Amino acid sequence: MTHHPAANTPRPTTLDDVFGHEGVLAQAFAGYQPRPGQMQMAEIIRDAITDSRTVVIEAGTGVGKTFGYLAPVLLAGRKAIVSTGTKHLQDQIFSRDLPQIKALMGSNARTALLKGRANYLCQHRLDRAIAEGRLQSPDWVRALQRIKTWAERTRDGDISRCDMVTEEHGIWPLVTSTNENCLGKECPAFDECFVVKAREAAHEAEIVVINHHLFCADIAIRQSGFAQLLPEADVVVLDEAHQLPEIASLFFGSALSSGQMIDLVRDTVREQQAEAADMSDITVVAHQLEVALDPCVLALKNARTDRIAWAEIAEDAAIQATFNALDECLKELTSALEIAAPRGKGLASCHERAVQMRQGLSSFRSSKDTDTEVRWLERREKSFTLNITPMDAGKTFSDVVESQPRTWVFTSATLAAGADFSHFTRRLNLNLALCQQTPSPFDYPNQALMYLPPDLPDPKTDSDYTLKILRRVFPVLKASGGRAFLLFTSHRELKKAAEILEGKLPFPLFVQGMQAKATLLEQFRQSGNGVLLGTQSFWEGVDVRGEALSVVMIDRIPFASPDDPVRRARETQLKEAGHSPFAAMAMPEAIITFKQGVGRLIRDVTDRGILVLCDPRLQSTGYGRQILDALPPMRRTSDPIDVHAFFQESIPKT
Ligand code: SF4
Repeated sequence: MTHHPAANTPRPTTLDDVFGHEGVLAQAFAGYQPRPGQMQMAEIIRDAITDSRTVVIEAGTGVGKTFGYLAPVLLAGRKAIVSTGTKHLQDQIFSRDLPQIKALMGSNARTALLKGRANYLCQHRLDRAIAEGRLQSPDWVRALQRIKTWAERTRDGDISRCDMVTEEHGIWPLVTSTNENCLGKECPAFDECFVVKAREAAHEAEIVVINHHLFCADIAIRQSGFAQLLPEADVVVLDEAHQLPEIASLFFGSALSSGQMIDLVRDTVREQQAEAADMSDITVVAHQLEVALDPCVLALKNARTDRIAWAEIAEDAAIQATFNALDECLKELTSALEIAAPRGKGLASCHERAVQMRQGLSSFRSSKDTDTEVRWLERREKSFTLNITPMDAGKTFSDVVESQPRTWVFTSATLAAGADFSHFTRRLNLNLALCQQTPSPFDYPNQALMYLPPDLPDPKTDSDYTLKILRRVFPVLKASGGRAFLLFTSHRELKKAAEILEGKLPFPLFVQGMQAKATLLEQFRQSGNGVLLGTQSFWEGVDVRGEALSVVMIDRIPFASPDDPVRRARETQLKEAGHSPFAAMAMPEAIITFKQGVGRLIRDVTDRGILVLCDPRLQSTGYGRQILDALPPMRRTSDPIDVHAFFQESIPKT
């Protein structure tokens, strides 16, 4: 229960006033116990702010890292940007943690939430969509009507707050903007623009909460010499920092998707009708581009994997023919739009986009992979994206870090492999950072038991591996009364497990993909005895406290796919630099992913639970033992009797 400190409590001026035995947290929370890891983290950040230096902090699960960085930032009274991995966490920090710690510390710091432009309603595009009135289905007509009603009362235009139309609805791209289609200062709705207002509020605030996608987009924009989106700040805190290297490579490269081309087609049709009704031939040419995308998707179906190195398929005659036809259509559309561009801003903007897309397609197809970038293609059921990914996103990142004296804080529950941060610091080129681990407050030896089931086959060679591990897990589930996450490293194994368990468990079964993630989690919590099967998206960022989750099973060591073209290129680069790709990349990545999965089990000082690690390589190989040693210090057993005894101990004595 939270009590706000008495009105006459003096404002804290030291970290001890916040986190100490007599501090504001102790006064606010009944039974509060100071956490040494949290205090240590806050002290490191306080000193880093004084010295304007860069720190990398792995804050063990349960440290309370959000308060651990917000408190020293508020005490220092400096302008700060806090960035996190997902929009969900961003909302949570802005709406829950930040107001709470501010109230406890009596702080008046102005705060702002800033997201990417696709998260805000675009008044101009909404007006256009209403005026045109041509929508693809009655469901879209209803959705547009609801958005119109909501638009009259929303104050910030944040589409996640529109409770009448879900964020996943396909209509949103029609009424939100992109860099390409925003009219900027020439927009008739510029004065009421939510994107502009959100950016202005961010420039005026002392603490701005953003997400890594926006952060990396900002760096990419600075590199290109355009204006920046984000305000300058004295302190930048990057929470969930383990996600940054991947997001950075995504943003510092370039991508051209079939979806972008379809958007261009739709916008061209709309702008032609609005600005040049007599030039209907543009619409015909635009539709030809859309039609030319299908054969490309079809030609890619024969490729071996979903992420394909362009070098592998660049000589394929069928693929070349479909992409030649696509280029021809893009060329025709560009020419038609060039003639129409003087008729209006909308058509001029479409022309610019078409020119850029044509250049993007041509540079993707004509250049070769180099030491600095790799070209690859992502294939999905009905779409594709052409990517050029830089091999060294770290260089761009560190140029920004080193460009001005300010404090940088990189933090997450999982950044190091054992005590070694080099995998993370190398990816972001943070050579001079101070790296530190702060301990979890959890008593792992007493709160958790690691069960390594005996006599399991090699997961690489046994085709019945999933069935065999489920046979071992079944008695654990009976002993625990369900209340379990079964985490798999691939969708294929997840599907197999779901088929095996369907109708065989005396507990409710929840399978990733059945519902939206948040709904599935809520139903799992409510059930009290559920068993949830999940892959990557359930390995991290999921918080189920208490008895609803008492077992976490991991099917095998989460080594990343060896087929991934970007990874393959990085492996080659590491080899050339004299490193072992297995030791320098595959192992640290597996350890960090493993720690994320394991971190789902114990979420509070009163939680208890069993971690079931099935992969026999964890005991039979040197690297497996290295992974086990990097996990929190739990008791280990391979005896099912210990599992039963653990749950017997859990039953409250009457
Ligand atoms: S300025 Fe751009 S985002 Fe804002 S309302 Fe106009 S088109 Fe939409």
